Amino acid sequence: MHYRFESAATKGVGPVLNEALSVLVRNGDADTSASSSKPAKAAATYVKPRQADDRDPVVALREDIRAKLIYVLGKTPESARDRDWFAATALALRDRIVDACHEGQAGTVPDKRVYYLSLEFLIGRLLSDAMNNLGLVEATKQALRDLGVDLSEVEGAEPDAALGNGGLGRLAACFMESMASLSIPAIGYGIRYDHGIFRQSLEDGWQREAPETWLAEGNPWEFARQESTYKIGFGGHVTMTSHGDHHIRRHWHPAETVNAVAYDIPVVGWRGRHVNMLRLWKAESDAPVELARFNAGDHVGAVAGRARAEAISRVLYPSDSSAEGQELRLRQEYFFTSASLQDLVRRHIAERGSLRTLPDHAAIQLNDTHPAIAVPELMRILLEEHDFLWEDAWQITSNTLHYTNHTLLPEALETWPVELMERLLPRHMQIIYLINWLHLEEQSKNARGGAAHIAAVSLIDESHGRRVRMGPLAFHGSRRVNGVSALHSDLLKSTVFKDLHEIEPEKIVNKTNGITFRRWLHNANPELTALAVETVGKGVLDDPTELLKLVPYADDPEFRTRYAAMRKVRKKRLAQVIAERTGIAVDPTALFDVQIKRIHEYKRQLLNLVETVALYQAIKKAPNKDWTPRVKIFAGKAAPSYVQAKLIIKLAGDIAKVVNEDPDIGNKLKVVFLPNYSVSLAEVIIPAADLSEQISTAGMEASGTGNMKLALNGALTIGTLDGANIEIKDHVGAENIFIFGLDAEGVLARVDEPAYANKAIAASPRLAAALDAIGNGFFSPDEPRRFAPLIDELRHRDRYLTTVDFDDYWRVQREIDAAWRRPAQWWRTAILNTARMAWFSSDRSMREYAEEIWQVKLG
Ligand SMILES: *Cc1c(COP(=O)(O)O)cnc(C)c1O
Repeated sequence: MHYRFESAATKGVGPVLNEALSVLVRNGDADTSASSSKPAKAAATYVKPRQADDRDPVVALREDIRAKLIYVLGKTPESARDRDWFAATALALRDRIVDACHEGQAGTVPDKRVYYLSLEFLIGRLLSDAMNNLGLVEATKQALRDLGVDLSEVEGAEPDAALGNGGLGRLAACFMESMASLSIPAIGYGIRYDHGIFRQSLEDGWQREAPETWLAEGNPWEFARQESTYKIGFGGHVTMTSHGDHHIRRHWHPAETVNAVAYDIPVVGWRGRHVNMLRLWKAESDAPVELARFNAGDHVGAVAGRARAEAISRVLYPSDSSAEGQELRLRQEYFFTSASLQDLVRRHIAERGSLRTLPDHAAIQLNDTHPAIAVPELMRILLEEHDFLWEDAWQITSNTLHYTNHTLLPEALETWPVELMERLLPRHMQIIYLINWLHLEEQSKNARGGAAHIAAVSLIDESHGRRVRMGPLAFHGSRRVNGVSALHSDLLKSTVFKDLHEIEPEKIVNKTNGITFRRWLHNANPELTALAVETVGKGVLDDPTELLKLVPYADDPEFRTRYAAMRKVRKKRLAQVIAERTGIAVDPTALFDVQIKRIHEYKRQLLNLVETVALYQAIKKAPNKDWTPRVKIFAGKAAPSYVQAKLIIKLAGDIAKVVNEDPDIGNKLKVVFLPNYSVSLAEVIIPAADLSEQISTAGMEASGTGNMKLALNGALTIGTLDGANIEIKDHVGAENIFIFGLDAEGVLARVDEPAYANKAIAASPRLAAALDAIGNGFFSPDEPRRFAPLIDELRHRDRYLTTVDFDDYWRVQREIDAAWRRPAQWWRTAILNTARMAWFSSDRSMREYAEEIWQVKLG
């Protein structure tokens, strides 16, 4: 029986689904029938029922969901809202995850564990993940139907767990799912923010931010572990005591301590074989409410200390690819790093006794520099709390930690003022000084040891005031350092870490990012998944390389028709969402051209918008030409303090207003900005995309993962030779991707040429006309100079080489127009993209980390 195909019927696509099914189901092929009268049999192959639970899985789920609703939530089926049904369903499934966990792992100590430290986990919804990985999609659907409830409504009532900004946080979530699916024993550590990334709305086209309150009604997936609480210190002073002749011990006496309380979210892997924990820390004050002050009427003062402590896990910093530099941010970083290290040290001692063997049984991965304070913190724990000698402590630390770098942008490289570190973490600052002193001593001995070399490799930057450089600190304290695409890892060696790399040429390795296919193919695109299963067999659900068997079908006209029909279903669904959320009517037969990601100048949404304006002007000049109808779809959040990015959002809205209402244009061009980009919105947009815009300035996008999700779902990529685009090109074939613009080397050469933007504009009347229209207020007659800051930047500096790449981008876009008019060829290319993307599974990434960095066995 085709389990996945049936789950397609649960995804809440309603009437469009029936259309998909009628296209996908071949007459007489009973094996793929979507009728689900005996739905839950497959469940038996996934999770064994609890001991002594021999109920039918549907009956069991129905009874359990009902019991959770009544006895845990205190609701009656009559009064329950969708949100209540969601909580009851999640609780019933969580029981089954716990069963799977106990069955597989109870009482066993794994040889080696991975600890994944990340300040961000951009998880999204968990219900469909849990049902799918437990093999209970159809059973849950049936159980809810028996209770008079529609699963898709229940799924829609789950708030996104959006504890991240973008790619970095989403990567952490994909990695957690893949580690569970590969049975890699792992614990993820992060912060349980009350407020994740803000909710974005548009007010007259301007971004407005509102707090997202995902915990307002509790989180049914999590277990509160009050008993796993650690004290985290800040401030204070350091004392010295001498022990014998040569041994001086230092002790930190923090002025303030905050409690870190653990909350665990179980992460269940594919087919319920393995469960890992995501452990998120909540900050709680250890100071009681000052009752005397409270009784004296000082109600605010009585809780002020508590508020200060609890602020640490209140809110996620909403900036992406830039460093915050605020004290609260450093407090967050130290808070979660210290709690996580204390927790894993305690576990190691309980299981193994001595910390000497820590590197043999623990691999700690630092997701970017946010947890880089782990280097001095692990040293402090070893030196102060476990009496290790410096040399031994350093051996242990630098053999346990590993660091992933995520960006080369200078504004994203974290540094902290020495003065702030000395005030907030005085003991850590001493340890950093000593690490740096020993490191520079070593360097001064070798041939390169001149002053310039010493300054280049120092962990303290003395050129802009004295600041601790967190990237070099993480590099120096780690066993392996990795970039996240082949190009990015090479650039690490030749740019930011050039000097450190020359000292330790073996340290930097590449680990190209990946995405979990369970979420981004199976759950997000049940129609395509059903088509793949029907065509190449259900083994494709376990092994994505089976997708390669689709290659010959790219030349099969019947298969192409069905593939195109799958896309049509998804585009109709997206068109509905666009109509509901923006009021704009789009034609699902048009080319859906999608750019969805954080709004950032280096990602060049502005290049896309300038091309949109040029296209608009071209259509106006020749409205009767045979234009390829396009819908340009944008979505993404801007950091609240990022003025230019917010102006780019406003520009998209202003262009949309003019273009969409112009009767000469009609369906030839529509522009849509969908508000509040999130994981769940991505899951709706990606399967509906025909064209994927991956147009960053070459050398600036470390990897990208949106590019992978879209290509896997069969969107053709228009992209620069940047990040993982290069590897996508290698896999799908150069003839199946649209590449344009300067490469990374070309960018480096061009930025040294004087007045390159001026020259590019002078050479391109089309570009000049588009810039003039935007700069002169054609799209903003109410405020003609509104976009002058964007256009002036392009004319006078153009740090991201938008003007330089424009003409080539335009040329390739017109090639794409022509390609869309040859549907057989288009769908052939799309199918080849899907078929050849298996390598970008995060299972592959995690296998590589496990073998080459962590040296941990897959279960
Ligand atoms: C995948 C993903 C990203 C990363 O997208 P890029 O195009 O790689 O920047 C950001 N946000 C969400 C919600 C995602 O799902």
